[in-house]
Amino acid sequence: MSKVTNTVLLLQMFVLSSTTYKSYQTSIHCTPSEPIHYPKSTEEVVNIVKRAIGENKTVKAFGSRHSITDIICTDGYPVSMKHFDHAIDNEDGTATFGAGIELQDAMIFLEKNGRTLISLPTFGGITLGGAIGTGAHGSSLLHPTSISDQVVRLTLVDGRGSLRDVSDPNELNALRVNLGLFGVIIDVTLQTVPLFKMTVHNRIHADHILTDGRTALRWAAQHDLFQIWWFPSQGDVVVSKGIYHDGTNELGNDTTNFIPDTDFITRNLVGTSFETLQETRNTYAMYLLEAYTKFSLVERVVGRAPIFEEHRNNGSAETWNNFKNPATGFSWRLMSNRCQRSCTWNTDSIRPKFLIEESSIAFDLEEFSSVINMIRKVLRQYPAAFPLVGLFIRFSIPSDGLMAISSNRSTFTVEWTTPMRWNRYEKPKDGIGAYQWILQEMVQNYNGRPHWGKNGLHYFNRDLMASVWKDKRELFVESMTKYDPEGIFLNKFGRRLLGTSDQVDKDSKVYRCALQDYCICQKHDDCGLLQNCVNRNGFNICKDLIDLKLPIISIVN
Ligand SMILES: Cc1cc2nc3c(=O)[nH]c(=O)nc-3n(C[C@H](O)[C@H](O)[C@H](O)COP(=O)(O)OP(=O)(O)OC[C@H]3O[C@@H](n4cnc5c(N)ncnc54)[C@H](O)[C@@H]3O)c2cc1C
Repeated sequence: MSKVTNTVLLLQMFVLSSTTYKSYQTSIHCTPSEPIHYPKSTEEVVNIVKRAIGENKTVKAFGSRHSITDIICTDGYPVSMKHFDHAIDNEDGTATFGAGIELQDAMIFLEKNGRTLISLPTFGGITLGGAIGTGAHGSSLLHPTSISDQVVRLTLVDGRGSLRDVSDPNELNALRVNLGLFGVIIDVTLQTVPLFKMTVHNRIHADHILTDGRTALRWAAQHDLFQIWWFPSQGDVVVSKGIYHDGTNELGNDTTNFIPDTDFITRNLVGTSFETLQETRNTYAMYLLEAYTKFSLVERVVGRAPIFEEHRNNGSAETWNNFKNPATGFSWRLMSNRCQRSCTWNTDSIRPKFLIEESSIAFDLEEFSSVINMIRKVLRQYPAAFPLVGLFIRFSIPSDGLMAISSNRSTFTVEWTTPMRWNRYEKPKDGIGAYQWILQEMVQNYNGRPHWGKNGLHYFNRDLMASVWKDKRELFVESMTKYDPEGIFLNKFGRRLLGTSDQVDKDSKVYRCALQDYCICQKHDDCGLLQNCVNRNGFNICKDLIDLKLPIISIVN
């Protein structure tokens, strides 16, 4: 290679590495040609889009980058919408927000105006633009659970650089979960309801309520908020039942702390403990952590902020006191919160000690017992722990959103969070074989739809997206093309959805592709150090060469 070519390559590498941006927990690496832009006005957004058109480049708007798929990436101009955080209370019972406003700030604004949303996702740190990018949802079989389903109007800059106002219900249905592929959303108008309170009660039950054929689904149909954390090693679930009150007269000012702030020492301690337990394959100690998490959802435990606590605001200072369960307060404050000062995934040490990955698959409600039994079957053969949030089970009524994971069907989702290994490129998570088997079987045999903002990139490969979204994709693409005929907002993720490319935005250090679900293993090297790729029941999974675990599902039973 000539000196000139070498220099050009080095320059290109420098430009790309200096513009690289990542998902919040650093697993997704995007390598655009341009640095992140931070527009402050619609005019500036229009200019960015027009410049990209002129240069034959692409554009991608994003919010908090809390999605862990390459849905957040672009090859061209990345656009942070953080300055679009305005809020307007309209006279017709709706409210209009800048797409970059964080959910928690939107809710505080509504509360001050005596309004609220009927239901919402658990994390207040996501933006409204991001929430409708992926269809972020909460849990209820009585009310719409996603922000997407509460949208009544949108404005966006389309692929020609024109500002468009969308309120036609049919058009909105394509845009409700838009994957960031229609344009740069400027603002979002949501249906609001008068502010009201809720009482929520978390209780432990034996996990046979999941499969006795009636209990769990009957409760789900009876409560305004209903969600379950399942701890298979314990043989238990924590059931969270919420009842809405009319108005705000009920006594109580409690809030949830589901996603708490943590201090530097706790973060490092927790991260180091998980790393040690995973390195030594100490699944039994992980089961004890499952038990700890279970108890933390119903009572006060040492080392974790209370799940619900009383909130006082005397005008000059805000204080939080007293563990509460049951808890009563403004409904949204018991459904959603935001770690603010320091989230567990804060990267404030040289080597971040505690980063997480998430899996989340949505199913037709009719599959409820079968999916639970399938998970039990796998865990009987491959014991695995779910220490962080158990298996979190949530519910949604059918959504009109074309690409919503609950599109046209009553839905339940099964989600779990796993601590990432410090050397994620070579070392497998404890329980990886079970996680891989469960995920593959969920999608292949139970018609599961992967959450757009969670899961490894295998679950968004070209063939899989074509089969999961076969009856929706064509309509979605048809609608998308009307807004973006030249593909200005297409990224690698979007091209895979269209079926025109296999490329992914990949962290260049990843080479054992099955460790973070970039692929299903085909050879031993796709798995971790000291692991083989084996086939079980038709599913390829990574398995330790020396497996010391006994096939026990429960330390309690
Ligand atoms: C701690 C935590 C808790 C979570 N809890 C839930 C939950 O309860 N329920 C749930 O369903 N999900 C949950 N998620 C997932 C999360 O809600 C989604 O990934 C959400 O999309 C993230 O929003 P964001 O603002 O970070 O958007 P980003 O991740 O930045 O973007 C997501 C998508 O939206 C598009 N987008 C964002 N803004 C715009 C805009 N202005 N114009 C056009 N496109 C735009 C992006 O292009 C991208 O395609 C959680 C994630 C975390 C980290």
